[in-house]
Amino acid sequence: MARYRASVCRLCRREGLKLFLKGERCYTDKCAIERRNYPPGEHGQGRVKFSEYSLQLREKQKLKRMYRLLEGQFRRLFERADRTKGITGETLMLLLERRLDNMIYRLGFANSRAEARQLVRHGHFLVNDRKIDIPSALVKPGDVVTVRERSHKVVRIQEALELSQRRGVPEWLEVDRPNFTGRIRALPARADLTMPINEKLVVELYSK
Ligand code: SF4
Repeated sequence: MARYRASVCRLCRREGLKLFLKGERCYTDKCAIERRNYPPGEHGQGRVKFSEYSLQLREKQKLKRMYRLLEGQFRRLFERADRTKGITGETLMLLLERRLDNMIYRLGFANSRAEARQLVRHGHFLVNDRKIDIPSALVKPGDVVTVRERSHKVVRIQEALELSQRRGVPEWLEVDRPNFTGRIRALPARADLTMPINEKLVVELYSK
């Protein structure tokens, strides 16, 4: 499967936004956005005029990169949101949030969504007592996510749990750190997702 291999901090700098792709480093002054908040490359500090299309494109890239999806995966999720009753942009945001890899990250069992995805693929988690190793699986309210007993000693999970105590967990989730368990209390409302994303621009882009 294709994978983005270059520096992920470049992605944040390109979007001019902290996408939180690197775990603990994102919360320190070593963050590239704190140090060099301009696009990477030779012309990064030049003046840029944004067209309507480029604004829509950048918004889509921001969202796609934040959740670490490739174009095809993101497009398929958009098409699913488009087929679903309701406001397409908001449904898209909700589908992204419901992904198991995202929930693992939000619950604090991983330091980034990329790490969460790898941990899920390696079979470290149970959802409602069943092993699920598909990062794109969608969770729903009431689901219980548990770290498998044999994985309690995985250093990356322990470190992430420690950091998550400082980072906090959204109120629609519940985490029991000593027992390596999390529960999805409810799905977030759009207003609960505070990332500065205008999903309407993504809908406009794909509706052309
Ligand atoms: Fe983005 Fe984190 Fe790198 Fe900062 S440290 S630029 S937030 S990935």
